[in-house]
Amino acid sequence: MGGSPTIVMTPTLRNMAMAMGRSVLPAEVCGLVAGPRLPQWDQEAPIVVSGIVRVRNAARSPTRFALDGKGMMNAEARIVDGGDEVIGVMHSHPVSAAVPSATDLADALVYDPDAVWLQLIVSLQGFAPNLRAWRFPPSPPVSGADPTELAIDLIDGDLRSP
Ligand SMILES: [Zn+2]
Repeated sequence: MGGSPTIVMTPTLRNMAMAMGRSVLPAEVCGLVAGPRLPQWDQEAPIVVSGIVRVRNAARSPTRFALDGKGMMNAEARIVDGGDEVIGVMHSHPVSAAVPSATDLADALVYDPDAVWLQLIVSLQGFAPNLRAWRFPPSPPVSGADPTELAIDLIDGDLRSP
């Protein structure tokens, strides 16, 4: 099996993701995650998250999200202009834990069928808002597998210039 890569991001970015989530309550927020390179799931090198760009939630729902098509293109252009790549998707759970829902797993099969993206989920539930990182199982032949949680290391500094 081998280990799973660790996610590295600044506490500032983590807090920003929470603020994004709070700003659109009671709906879920969603956005694209930026990093210097796509996750390489078979390697244990850390996956750096350098930014999160909000995209309009076309579903405008408290229980699901749909990345707006045009917004997604704009966000991707911004990320690439900044010298990074789109490495994942972030969304929030206004009133539940930062754990993938059945809807999340089903939707991801549509927008990321090969499960190459990192999935960040912000929970705004109760008194303990938090952010957790996941890798979703790829579509067949291993559909039905559980998502894998990845540890997040919060590190201060400019993560774009190692
Ligand atoms: Zn969700």
